[in-house]
Amino acid sequence: MRKDTPPRIAVVGGGLAGLTLALALHRAGLECQVYEQAPRLGEVGAGLQLAPSATRLLHRLGLESALRSSAVIPEAMEFRRWADSSVISRGLLGEYCEKRYGAPYYSMHRADLHRALVDALPPGMVRLNARCTMAEEGADEVVLRFADGSEAVADAVVGADGIHSVLRQALVADRPRFSGQSVYRGLVDSRRIPALVAEPRVQLWLGPGRHFVCYPVSGGRLVNFVATLPTSASEDESWSRRGRAADVAAAYEGWCEDVTSVIAAADQVSLWALHDRDPIERWSTGRVTLLGDSAHPMLPFLGQGANQAIEDAVALAACLRDAAPGDLPAALQRYESLRRPRTSLVQERSRGNSTAFHLADGEAQRERDAAMGTPAPERQDWLHGYDVEDSLESHQPV
Ligand SMILES: Cc1cc2nc3c(=O)[nH]c(=O)nc-3n(C[C@H](O)[C@H](O)[C@H](O)COP(=O)(O)OP(=O)(O)OC[C@H]3O[C@@H](n4cnc5c(N)ncnc54)[C@H](O)[C@@H]3O)c2cc1C
Repeated sequence: MRKDTPPRIAVVGGGLAGLTLALALHRAGLECQVYEQAPRLGEVGAGLQLAPSATRLLHRLGLESALRSSAVIPEAMEFRRWADSSVISRGLLGEYCEKRYGAPYYSMHRADLHRALVDALPPGMVRLNARCTMAEEGADEVVLRFADGSEAVADAVVGADGIHSVLRQALVADRPRFSGQSVYRGLVDSRRIPALVAEPRVQLWLGPGRHFVCYPVSGGRLVNFVATLPTSASEDESWSRRGRAADVAAAYEGWCEDVTSVIAAADQVSLWALHDRDPIERWSTGRVTLLGDSAHPMLPFLGQGANQAIEDAVALAACLRDAAPGDLPAALQRYESLRRPRTSLVQERSRGNSTAFHLADGEAQRERDAAMGTPAPERQDWLHGYDVEDSLESHQPV
């Protein structure tokens, strides 16, 4: 790296992880170039829950007013029984969360967050139609190669290219692991289910082998739902495709009316096969590192993938900002050693919920419900109370 000039940082992938990193770098006084394979910027999927550990960071990045105007602040998160919708547990969010953690819990449309990030970036930071095929690392720089034959040179490269990451391939020979489950996702006009949206809430109905989640997005005009069910899809099958609302209705036949009324109001659904990967021992090789789903893809059963990506992005930007001239590899090591333990734990717990959420009715289910029904107030502190910038202050690389 040239010691007298700012480092050239390249980010592969313009999803929520890559764009948050670009904004955090920009706010830290460092510029970067994002390379995105898609011909235009946008987000697929529907809803997203954003927890205080991430929203405090997004607010500090200047997005508070954009988020408050598009997101919903749910009053509570409720777990319910599949057959009669009786409440297993109700945890407060809303004002309680803001007071306890100093930042809100949002439910929102993914496209709204993506747009807020894009709007906050200076023009020209994202190059579209740029599918990276390889990163070649030398002693002083990295050469990125793209599918159209072009190249780019950078001092450090960040792979924010999602669960199928090309950059991860150079580090580890693993593959996405199919979970045996798929999700149907959809959006419903909230006027079609007025009783269910009278109070903004995140609601999860737990039943044998499957669970159903819904929460309001887009200022409360729409309700996002995610219906999980066991499937036999293999890794070769389509990752994300249009599903049939009738199939969701059939899979949830016999469930309470709260659930079936949401499904009945859905005109269109998409189907995603759920994959994750095991935590890995390292994310970085010298001048190349990973961020977000490329580093730690997880099942969505804690609603944490994007939250962890946002924490990653702010941590990495701070490490690069503080780097000694010419010592980017040490900055990447500092970032990785802070982030890997936490994201590995979240990956594991997300997998754990895959079993806990889907117990058949019986003794284990009754024990689970009893434990969930009397939660300690500090139960979520490790997740929501965490401030990655505070942790960085006291963190010594290992
Ligand atoms: C059903 C479901 C519900 C979820 N709910 C939540 C939730 O409530 N809260 C939460 O925090 N998380 C949630 N998640 C997880 C969250 O969506 C992901 O963790 C997050 O979007 C990952 O962002 P990313 O930017 O790392 O990856 P991606 O969103 O996959 O973005 C990767 C980007 O890189 C680009 N790209 C890929 N390869 C290349 C290449 N070779 N060259 C150039 N560009 C490339 C892609 O086009 C894409 O734009 C959920 C996930 C699912 C499936």
